[in-house]
Amino acid sequence: MRDIAGVQPLSKAAGAPSHWLARGRAVPLPPLDGSQSADVAVVGGGFTGLWSAIRLAEAAPKARIVLLESRYAGFGASGRNGGFAMTMVGRNLHDLVRKVGPTQARTLHLEMVAALGEIQRFCADEGIECGLSHPGMLTVSNGQEQDLRIRQDLEAARRCGLTDFKPVSAGECRELVAAERVRLGHLEEHALLLDPAALVRGLRDAALRRGVLVFEGSPVTKISPSGSRVGVETPGGRVDAGQVLVATNAYARSVPRLRRYLFTVCAYVTLTAPLSAAQWARVGWKRRMGIEDKRVMPHFHRPTPDGRILWGGRDAPLLAGPPDPARDRDRRIFARLEESFRWTFPQLSDLPLEDAWGGPVSGTVSCIPHAGWLDQGRVLYALGYSGHGVGPSALMGKVVRDLLLGRDTPLTRLPLVTRPLTPLPPGPLQGPMLSAAQGVLQALDDRSGSPNPLAHLALRLLQ
Ligand SMILES: Cc1cc2nc3c(=O)[nH]c(=O)nc-3n(C[C@H](O)[C@H](O)[C@H](O)COP(=O)(O)OP(=O)(O)OC[C@H]3O[C@@H](n4cnc5c(N)ncnc54)[C@H](O)[C@@H]3O)c2cc1C
Repeated sequence: MRDIAGVQPLSKAAGAPSHWLARGRAVPLPPLDGSQSADVAVVGGGFTGLWSAIRLAEAAPKARIVLLESRYAGFGASGRNGGFAMTMVGRNLHDLVRKVGPTQARTLHLEMVAALGEIQRFCADEGIECGLSHPGMLTVSNGQEQDLRIRQDLEAARRCGLTDFKPVSAGECRELVAAERVRLGHLEEHALLLDPAALVRGLRDAALRRGVLVFEGSPVTKISPSGSRVGVETPGGRVDAGQVLVATNAYARSVPRLRRYLFTVCAYVTLTAPLSAAQWARVGWKRRMGIEDKRVMPHFHRPTPDGRILWGGRDAPLLAGPPDPARDRDRRIFARLEESFRWTFPQLSDLPLEDAWGGPVSGTVSCIPHAGWLDQGRVLYALGYSGHGVGPSALMGKVVRDLLLGRDTPLTRLPLVTRPLTPLPPGPLQGPMLSAAQGVLQALDDRSGSPNPLAHLALRLLQ
């Protein structure tokens, strides 16, 4: 079968949902078999569930924590993403300031800087080898409309009193990476790049070392609060828990009370063959930092630890329904990604793409992730990163810990907790509204070369 550039995608050949997951698998853990009792049951073995279980186990070493994962840790978006751990919460800094104000945006940004530092320390202390590097993040403009968005972010940083967003001229951008069409940008120094599947494996093992009981192949089919306890059912057994954390990201659409607030976003990446020394010389990119452009639905790209370029973003279908595995590989979207890769790096026309995949993430109207109670004090959910969860999930783990322990801390006063989720229209209207929104966003991006007042108006209405 020929998917992209005339090749069989590597990850598909290996039977894995991503190249990262194809490169290494952890030894599977057995499913839940029989009954367990727990202080806390965590549902979902991605970054959110694992960071939360780890932080909780550290703060309450005597607590009995059970984590239930339907497939294997990292099967969801956590094992398939681009591996950019950024300070960004939500869409961008300008948008965050508009939504929560400069004081809260500053606090959140500083918490994210701390969280990225903690990811680095945690990996060093636990011996997690996940190809982690700390090259920073270059955000670039490819058109007049995108120039404006770069300036808006820089202005938002100034209003927040943040000095870690540096303006970068066209010439400086080209010294960082030979992408001739780039016009200007900003550089943010804290961002990390990593192999996400290797980090998930490391987190799973770190959770086990802290006494967390992790069961894979254990899909939760029912969560039923009763009295002061919550029953959590799987095909092989049941957990009787004091509290439950729902950390199932896009799959949380299966929780009826969350359907009003969440939609599914399908995100995609492609991967080139390894570059030769001559090809790297043609593209420059000496600092090997992560790069994103300023489309509304941006392109993002980065070098990988095995010497390839990961190129992702662009089209991101928005669905009212639950994740659909059939959408994980979409040839039309992969072809459009290849087209924009060739447009950006014409000097790499001899470099084939070898892999491509996608995965579902949970979207919220504001794009700001949220932790909230479904059942006061008993069932908590944490999700809604809208495609930017690698870094924020580490912060979310600490927020969840404090909420589950009933602590009132600066973390539980962050907008991740205090800003309520904006509801979507009722059921049957969700699908048409989301496809209309996607159509508008795509049209804005296709025309983002020149300033467009209607684009600004449409964006404001959509947000
Ligand atoms: C292609 C792609 C590229 C991305 N790139 C980036 C990036 O570069 N940077 C960034 O910050 N973010 C990126 N993201 C988003 C990021 O991956 C997510 O925000 C993050 O991984 C969310 O982690 P999570 O633990 O909340 O969810 P997930 O990793 O999706 O974990 C949810 C888990 O719950 C399990 N589950 C579902 N239902 C059940 C059930 N009933 N019972 C038990 N378990 C269940 C699933 O199997 C899954 O393992 C990208 C996402 C994709 C798909």
